[in-house]
Amino acid sequence: MSDRNLFSVKMRAGKDEAGTLRHISGAEKIITEKQVCPCVSALIQRGLHHDKGEADFLNVKIEKILPEEIEYLEALPVTTVEVDNWQEGLREVDAFLEEIHAPGIDAIKPFLDQTYAMRGAMLLDIRNLVRLEPDSDRGIRATYMDRERDEKASFTNGKNHYEEAVVLATKVVNCPGIVGEICISDDPDYVTGYVASKEGGYRRITKLKETGSENGGRLFLFDPNQATVEEAIAYLQTKRVIVRNIIRLPETEPKRMNPMQVLAERNTLLKEKNLFRTMKTIESAQGAHITMDGREYVLLASNSYLDLTAHPYILQKTAEALAEYGAGSGGSRLTTGNTILHEKLETKIAQFKETEASIVFNTGYVANLAAISALMREGGVIFSDELNHASIIDGCKLSKGKTVVYKHNDMEDLEKKIQENPCEFGLVVSDAVFSMDGDILNLPAFVNICRKYCLLSMVDEAHATGVIGKTGRGIVEHYGTDCKPDVLMGTLSKAIGGEGGYIAGSRILIDYLRNTARGFIFSTSLSPVVMAGNLAGIEVIEREPERVQNLQENVAFFCRCLQEEGMDIHSDTAIIPVIIGDEKKALEVSDKLLDAGFYISAIRYPTVAKGAARLRVALMATHTREELQKAVKLIAAVMRDA
Ligand SMILES: *Cc1c(COP(=O)(O)O)cnc(C)c1O
Repeated sequence: MSDRNLFSVKMRAGKDEAGTLRHISGAEKIITEKQVCPCVSALIQRGLHHDKGEADFLNVKIEKILPEEIEYLEALPVTTVEVDNWQEGLREVDAFLEEIHAPGIDAIKPFLDQTYAMRGAMLLDIRNLVRLEPDSDRGIRATYMDRERDEKASFTNGKNHYEEAVVLATKVVNCPGIVGEICISDDPDYVTGYVASKEGGYRRITKLKETGSENGGRLFLFDPNQATVEEAIAYLQTKRVIVRNIIRLPETEPKRMNPMQVLAERNTLLKEKNLFRTMKTIESAQGAHITMDGREYVLLASNSYLDLTAHPYILQKTAEALAEYGAGSGGSRLTTGNTILHEKLETKIAQFKETEASIVFNTGYVANLAAISALMREGGVIFSDELNHASIIDGCKLSKGKTVVYKHNDMEDLEKKIQENPCEFGLVVSDAVFSMDGDILNLPAFVNICRKYCLLSMVDEAHATGVIGKTGRGIVEHYGTDCKPDVLMGTLSKAIGGEGGYIAGSRILIDYLRNTARGFIFSTSLSPVVMAGNLAGIEVIEREPERVQNLQENVAFFCRCLQEEGMDIHSDTAIIPVIIGDEKKALEVSDKLLDAGFYISAIRYPTVAKGAARLRVALMATHTREELQKAVKLIAAVMRDA
């Protein structure tokens, strides 16, 4: 590839963030004319679909280069220095600095640290440690360089970081005045860095920073006795350089770690952050009172809001089903696992939710995963509230669609995001009652926006069913039937007191899910016993509307008591969050309450945001006023002491 014209191709992709352009990817090549089209196409692909975000600005520049403008350089020889940690890595850098007669690492490190915020490199005078780049925010960039390519090279949109680094280092250390380079990647997962000089070659150092750190930068060490700053900058920014004979990295086996040791270290890390979880063991049925370690506690943490798990009618119905159908279902619903009880339950749910049909899944978690991933195919967009339950988030991740998160219960932001993300098929999904804050979705506005933009609306009623609405039918009853979402998801495991999840909606929707939802198709159905319990649970809610009423009155009473204690807390649902903030403190408060006989869970990251740890009080229909009052007094006292 000598005596002919070559072309320099450069691509830069950026993202508009509130008026400022954030760099997301860039690349350059020097190639023959024939290679220009495939190369540009690969670079555009890279720019458009980058891990760091979708570009909304892309600049491609193509320039002719004359043969006589090109300087060919032999690639620096490459060596690898294995170190155990980054501190040891820095000692290697120190040895390198001595070789090139520069000041030691203690003097250089503060400058290296300053490069982390810069896009380009720092040019540092090693005689008197003065920074020489004209624009100290941007730094200096080396450009117009590539490795020698063979004529028939194909272009992928991938990036060979190693080759690009050797090309760059080779050009840099051949630059007049530059005696060495130090480079650390800003990729948090890539901890290998390098030092380079003409004499020492390209020296990879396997650890130069902590894993997870985004602190990366580039330092050019300059000797003013050898050239002027202008000469150096001109060379870096305009000289056309092609690097020959880059040594391929030997395919090194990744150093395998002992898997159990890795897991043990991860556990230790969780413990250090107060995020390690242990379980309490309950020795009685789930109810307003439970037994643990032989002692009785008032349970103010359960999702069994109507206290139905041991209701006599449900016990009777499950016992009958057990005797008649046995303990297991023996197959998936589409094969042998579909009994008359499964179908009865689905009819009952549809009737209770006033929809045409319903479909039952093994858990609420699976219902969200299976339904969202089945509904959303490639090219579609899901709009999801930022505080949605983990099962919705995981459903979005599993789907092939794009997920756009909007601000919590903020219908203006939702509409803005919809306008910004046009699509042929879109889904808007939200918790009806938010599981950690206990607030209620603005359903009328939500449904109106979905209708206006012709988007499928989906609401998760895990904490709404049996809790809100005059007779506990959930969020549609709470607001009025003219704002019914297309997809009503819920769980049978909370207020209904049983097990399983469901989706209720139109017959078209349910037919579709039965045929496409993998969590439905590829899992053995819940046992008929569980179906009988669920069915009985819904019947009890219908027959004993006073349970829902009691729960709602308990909520109002409990909040009033909190307010009387000076805590500004309000809730219209069975979930009443008492925000503490610090993870450790939340645990301490929860432990003290437990000592006093009240079981109230502390909720921490990742269930809620870091630093937003809280007590999550969950009320039941069967708590007495006395118990609630006592709990409030205790919470107030413990919070004051903490
Ligand atoms: C609990 C919950 C689920 C999952 O339901 P399970 O039946 O417990 O698997 C889904 N969504 C929300 C909002 C929940 O709180």
